[in-house]
Amino acid sequence: MARILVVEDEVKIARFIELELQHEGYETAKAHDGRTGLEMAESGGYDLVLLDIMLPELNGLEVLRRLRKTSDIPVIMLTARDAVMDKVSGLDMGADDYVTKPFAIEELLARIRVTLRKRREKASESASLLSAAGVVMNVQAHTVTYRDEEITLTNKEFSLLETLLANKNIVLSRDTLLARVWSYDYIGETNVVDVYVRYLRQKIDDRFGIKLIHTVRGVGYIIKDDAV
Ligand code: CA
Repeated sequence: MARILVVEDEVKIARFIELELQHEGYETAKAHDGRTGLEMAESGGYDLVLLDIMLPELNGLEVLRRLRKTSDIPVIMLTARDAVMDKVSGLDMGADDYVTKPFAIEELLARIRVTLRKRREKASESASLLSAAGVVMNVQAHTVTYRDEEITLTNKEFSLLETLLANKNIVLSRDTLLARVWSYDYIGETNVVDVYVRYLRQKIDDRFGIKLIHTVRGVGYIIKDDAV
């Protein structure tokens, strides 16, 4: 379950929020001033920060500004009812959302759920992106593009390219590629790999005039990182 840091100087409100969060199954910690809150947030170990704006020592906007130099942890600001400027500055400075005080606890809980879900989606999306030489593969969406132009691949071509991209900068032998992409029934028929590498080169290298898949003579194939 997610761990939430509550930074709120009004002890009663902080305690109330904490109890409600715990009731929902979240783990919680709290800080009653901006400096302590910033230190705790920077120490890591939290999935989300609820950050009040009016805080002693460092106000919430200043905590957020400093925190954003080192961390992209989700932050929901707690703002006073009519502090429009605070909302705008908070979002400008990288807050994920804000809740206006006084708030209904259901609203706060809903915003927390949405913010955590968005973050999980973002994380899984970036985890499923593979790329090299300007070619981008989205494994989940099963798409491959070069500079936003779509490349249509068969399933075998896709999984061969995926295997090479996922092992970027490592030379993969024909036997390794056969085992991972085709299954062991094909062991020995290494020319299948060459045939499919040729298909990929026709669809990508030849079409866009780039060098994506390199042959390492006597060993196998490699896709190199752009910087290598
Ligand atoms: Ca306050």
